[in-house]
Amino acid sequence: MPKPPAKTARRKKPPRLSPAEQARIAEIFHRFESLESDPRTELEYKDAYTLVVAVALSAQATDVSVNKATAKLFEVADTPEAMLALGEHGLKPFISSIGLFNTKAKNVIAMARILVEQYGGRVPLDRAALQALPGVGRKTASVVLNELRVEPAIAVDTHVFRVSHRLGLSTGKTPDAVELELMGKIPEPLLTRAHHWLILHGRYTCIARRPKCEECPVADLCPSRHLFIGR
Ligand code: SF4
Repeated sequence: MPKPPAKTARRKKPPRLSPAEQARIAEIFHRFESLESDPRTELEYKDAYTLVVAVALSAQATDVSVNKATAKLFEVADTPEAMLALGEHGLKPFISSIGLFNTKAKNVIAMARILVEQYGGRVPLDRAALQALPGVGRKTASVVLNELRVEPAIAVDTHVFRVSHRLGLSTGKTPDAVELELMGKIPEPLLTRAHHWLILHGRYTCIARRPKCEECPVADLCPSRHLFIGR
């Protein structure tokens, strides 16, 4: 069934925030910036094609497991043409350690076919065209477009969702709702990198079960710290 048309990146009218709240949010992201000024995805890639494949493979899998698989895969197939030649059966052994690899293999090959047949082997860096590719949803397209600095986007994964709530940046109940709030609240010049900062913070400091509040660089700005400190 054809995918419905993709929605464009959403930067809605910023909610009315008090000056103190605006300053708090800006300070959170300036502190992240002072720790890591140019954060990038931890997925390894060489170009737009290998990035979109790596991101599509990373759904419900760790970046480490994807990097391990793609290190060998991209040696033999790092273009849509080579991926198509490898075929679904040839691809599966490279990605069999990654969750949902059967479906992902089918999608990666179907994607390669479309890229070869419709785009001359290039990845269209346009949200609607990207989201129409097999295995590429809104989150994958956001990661790709943001990483390649095509358009600022915040892909809300489990880390971004959790950290946004703990830091009082969002009360959204769904990833889409959180994304909307973040896009409206985070100062525009910091938006492209905010996605990475939130992921890194969630992965290494504000971890799910035992957040490391004692060493958190934004603890004094976090309304949730009292829930965890001294627990
Ligand atoms: S203070 Fe604790 S809960 Fe708040 S952002 Fe830092 S690590 Fe997370």
